[in-house]
Amino acid sequence: MATFKEFRNNVKPNWCPGCGDFSIQAAIQRAAANVGLEPEELAVISGIGCSGRISGYINAYGLHGIHGRALPIAQGVKLANRELTVIASGGDGDGFAIGMGHTVHAIRRNLDVTYIVMDNQIYGLTKGQTSPRSAEGFKTKSTPEGSIETTLSPLEIALSAGATFVAQSFSSDLKQLTSLIEQGIQHKGFSLINVFSPCVTFNKVNTYEWFKENIVNLNEFPDYDPSNRIAAMTKIMETGGMLTGLIYQNKERKSYEDLIVGFKEEALAHQSLDITREQFDKL
Ligand code: SF4
Ligand code: MG
Repeated sequence: MATFKEFRNNVKPNWCPGCGDFSIQAAIQRAAANVGLEPEELAVISGIGCSGRISGYINAYGLHGIHGRALPIAQGVKLANRELTVIASGGDGDGFAIGMGHTVHAIRRNLDVTYIVMDNQIYGLTKGQTSPRSAEGFKTKSTPEGSIETTLSPLEIALSAGATFVAQSFSSDLKQLTSLIEQGIQHKGFSLINVFSPCVTFNKVNTYEWFKENIVNLNEFPDYDPSNRIAAMTKIMETGGMLTGLIYQNKERKSYEDLIVGFKEEALAHQSLDITREQFDKL
């Protein structure tokens, strides 16, 4: 069985020292090992942004795609080879701005893909502009007078879109983050894991200290039931979206793959290219 070190490669990350993304990379590698994967059983598909580099830093199949398109690629990979564990990753700009249409529809489609968003509440790679996750009043080069837009709440959107797995974590909480990624991988369906990942170079507001002061850990609510969608929505709103832990999981709904008639096990057994259309239709 592979150890987390076997998910490392010899590519040196070029993230800034202190960037939260380092811990997310480590958590993915640990989670992959903890659930018993081998490197050749994992594919990591990323978008564009500082976060997008992660696919190159993990010893597994990987593809560094195009901006906002990690999810269409990841879903294609999963449909083409259902034996693979597929992780998609990207930043808040990648997933919640240009890629938001894909995010919503991937959520409601419920393919068995784990989507990890590295949420630093800014555009880092392009040197610090306001993102959909930036707070109102947030000052950057693109909003010198402060942002006048509301902050997007991905957790509320995910629940509204019919998500079957919604979690949130903090890059500094490696134990919680690793556990949530393991649970996301093991969940049969689409899992959204939003991870607060401080950008130490350009975001001087949402710092490590700021997150530590503002995060509300679900451990504080021992009676919380993650299968209750209304309770999940209420708790997200009550905490201003700063909740961490497993927020919602629906274990009843089947994944997209499991609902496709053409993906019956019989079809898989005959999945050679010489099967005729007539034979396929009879399966
Ligand atoms: Fe991380 Fe920000 Fe540096 Fe990008 S610019 S690597 S997000 S600290
Ligand atoms: Mg970002």
